[in-house]
Amino acid sequence: MKNRFDVIVVGAGPAGCAAARAFALSGQTVALLESDPAGQSKQRFAGEWLHPQGVEALEQLGFEQIVESIGRPRGRGFVVYPGHGESPVKLDYVDGQIGLAFHHGELVDEMRRIVAETRGVSFFAGVRVKSADDQGVTLENGRRFEAARIVGADGRASVVRRSLRGASAHKAISAMTGILLEGVKAPYPDYGHVFLGQPSFLLGYEIAPSTVRICVDVPLKYKAEMKDPAWLIEAIRDTLPPVWRQPAEEQIRKGQLSWQANHFLARADYGNGRRILIGDAAGHTHPLTATGITNGLVDAIELSAMADFRAFVKSRRRACRVPELLSRALYDCFSKEDAFSQSLRRAVVSLWRNNERERARTMGLLMGNGQSFFTFAGPFLRALWGAWKGRTSGRADAADLASAVSWIRLPLAYALAGLVKSRN
Ligand SMILES: Cc1cc2nc3c(=O)[nH]c(=O)nc-3n(C[C@H](O)[C@H](O)[C@H](O)COP(=O)(O)OP(=O)(O)OC[C@H]3O[C@@H](n4cnc5c(N)ncnc54)[C@H](O)[C@@H]3O)c2cc1C
Repeated sequence: MKNRFDVIVVGAGPAGCAAARAFALSGQTVALLESDPAGQSKQRFAGEWLHPQGVEALEQLGFEQIVESIGRPRGRGFVVYPGHGESPVKLDYVDGQIGLAFHHGELVDEMRRIVAETRGVSFFAGVRVKSADDQGVTLENGRRFEAARIVGADGRASVVRRSLRGASAHKAISAMTGILLEGVKAPYPDYGHVFLGQPSFLLGYEIAPSTVRICVDVPLKYKAEMKDPAWLIEAIRDTLPPVWRQPAEEQIRKGQLSWQANHFLARADYGNGRRILIGDAAGHTHPLTATGITNGLVDAIELSAMADFRAFVKSRRRACRVPELLSRALYDCFSKEDAFSQSLRRAVVSLWRNNERERARTMGLLMGNGQSFFTFAGPFLRALWGAWKGRTSGRADAADLASAVSWIRLPLAYALAGLVKSRN
């Protein structure tokens, strides 16, 4: 049996399927290795919202059947509910662009089916890669595959990454539970909904007609409480829209929940040119801004198109830096409980509510349109100033000052990291 290929791709998630397809379409032979057994549908609770750039990437790779599938909800943007009975704020994708929502398992199943039929791809399901080196990979069953390039698309616990860098240093951020509601509609069916509240926020969107996915973010400090259904019901009751309350409570009582941990790993390391990391293996952030799948698809397209590995790394670092910073800043803004951070939350929502340009700018950054640090820094400083003026206490106490300083530290670290990298 053939063991030598031009490219080995480890992992047939969204990024791995996209990479295998992209390399095969450019005439290379590809071994795609996936640990899930053949024919077993992917049941995992993971990404179910794709930005327009991701939709475009699917189409570019010839996965348009997935995009055109009848009844699959399209996404026009996000609706943010600030809580306290305030009216929602709508953030549309710029230039009328459209995203996509789906069941994660369905997306992966369809991508695997299409890629397995692609000329040049040999798809091996039910095989787990145990180790990787610059010449190839070894499976748990001892079989060896060799290639000029090994693409690690094996997710957050990547074996390929471990083979290069040892144990991953990714940081746990929060836990998230997914609840599926059948036979209900979203208030804005074409939008992703973000409900701000305490102890944290909820996301909700239709992933099929009249099927709503709710994602509840639970900060790690509640990790003992979150196992108790009564606590969870109480924690989300006031944040959920009334029409979803009863069906969501029923699902929680029945234990129909999927849990996932959310981690952060900065996208700084893409491998050594022979062993290359893409998708979540290269880095990952909180799913609030729904950038993971889009990043993986675009990684795959650029990697297959660029002959020079260093040009690929430079391009992906530049493109992912600002969306990653935005994701971290928004997550902190929506989840931190101190008084200054709550004032910042109000200031951000007010900026969006009152300023069309800021809405468009935020959505542009999410869609990867702004690569300069300054596209983030301007509105961020404006929101910070608004938060300072809008503090409920009115006078500057030590806690507010400490919180404001901690808020400045994050973008500063990114700006400095960018400066150091651009000099290298
Ligand atoms: C709760 C949650 C909600 C999310 N929501 C969104 C969202 O709305 N939008 C969005 O864009 N992103 C979202 N994300 C992130 C998104 O799911 C990931 O970014 C995306 O799945 C990463 O794709 P990937 O192909 O890089 O990795 P994965 O999807 O993790 O796929 C990796 C594949 O590699 C296989 N594998 C792993 N190890 C081995 C091995 N040793 N040998 C062989 N095969 C192996 C795995 O079985 C898997 O199939 C969410 C994540 C979570 C946890």
